[in-house]
This record gives sequence, C-alpha cells and structure tokens, in this order.
Amino acid sequence: MSDYVRKPLDPPGGQRKVLLHSCCAPCSGEVMEAMQASGIDFTIFFYNPNIHPLKEYELRKQENIRFAEKFGIPFVDADYDTDNWFERARGLEDEPERGARCTMCFDMRFERTALYAHEHGFPVITSSLGISRWKNMAQINDCGVRAASHYPELTYWEYNWRKQGGSARMIEISKREHFYQQEYCGCVYSLRDTNRHRAETGRAPVKIGVLYYGDDET
Ligand code: SF4
Repeated sequence: MSDYVRKPLDPPGGQRKVLLHSCCAPCSGEVMEAMQASGIDFTIFFYNPNIHPLKEYELRKQENIRFAEKFGIPFVDADYDTDNWFERARGLEDEPERGARCTMCFDMRFERTALYAHEHGFPVITSSLGISRWKNMAQINDCGVRAASHYPELTYWEYNWRKQGGSARMIEISKREHFYQQEYCGCVYSLRDTNRHRAETGRAPVKIGVLYYGDDET
C-alpha cells in the first residue's frame, strides 16, 4: 500500500469492523488503503447488478478481486441479479444520471449490503461510491442511511472519501495498479447516454475492455 501518512479514520460508534460496499477497484482503492492504514477490520462487499453488459461486470469485479487478494482483504462476491435490477428500473429508463433511477440503484445495492451486514455481524456499512466526483454524495448518503435504518444495530458511515486528497490518491492508485478504467457509470442506460453524448461530440462509442489507467493521459 502507499506510504502516504493519513490521519487515522474513526468509524462511527468507535466500531472497528466495517462492511465496505465496493462499486469498482478505482473507486475503492483509496478507501481500502485508508481503512487498512487505520487498522480497520473490513470486508469488501461487491454487489452491483446494475453493471451492463456481463463483460463489463466481470472486468470491474475481477479488478476489485485482484486488488483485494493482493492485500489479503476478504471479498464477498454477491449476486448478479440483473432481473431484479431491471424490474426496479422499469419506468426510470430515461432518468438522467443523479436522478430517480440512480436513487433506486443505490437503494438496491445498499439494501443488500445492509442485509448482509445484519446477517454477518457487521455494525457499520459504507461505500466507495461517493468518492467519484460524478456522483451526488448527498444522494448516496441518503440511500445508505435509509438502508441501514432497517436494522437498529447498523450504522451507515457517511465519510467523505474525497477530502484530504482522497480524489487525487484514487487516480494515483489506479495508475499505480493499472486498473481497468470504465468509461460510463455502469447500467445500460448510462452506456446509452454516454454513447449519445460521444456521437454528438464526434467521438467513437465506448469500447469495453480496452482502457487501463496509466496507459495514456487518464
Ligand atoms: S447511471 Fe449509474 S448509479 Fe445511475 S442507475 Fe445507472 S448504474 Fe446506477
């Protein structure tokens, strides 16, 4: 892990055991290093049935597994229940990013994270999702708190992973680890909208599986 000296993290309630919902390796790399530097006993929970297509899902998941294995961090590979995701996304297909479809998407992922935490004795959950500057952190935190509220013993840790240089280290770590670089948020609708925008600006459509951090000016 990097030799950057961090201020120790202090999970809510003085707890030291955390279930970290991870969306991908680039977003969770800095979060994982920060937690490990603070001696937090954490497990990664990979539950992202939003990611489409399967090839992209496997790429993101395998990158996250690779990084977790490198440092001996437990990794829970949860369901890829895309039918349920599409069912919940019905009627929200044309929502913009950060809109109602994303609230549903965060809710769904955090509900499963909270359930797993409840069933396996984790008192705190959190997520790497908020480290991305493309995301609305308040929206993510609302969803996390809502999911945890179903279990009295469970707390959602609303930590701002972007602060104190977190965003810059996220990129540094991604380049150092040569992580796969996704070019859209994840779902089929975000892929559609990204490709629409690219077409409008004269760029080629997204190619899955070709771009890695550090290969060029990423
Ligand atoms: S744009 Fe991203 S957060 Fe929003 S629904 Fe799609 S995958 Fe989920």
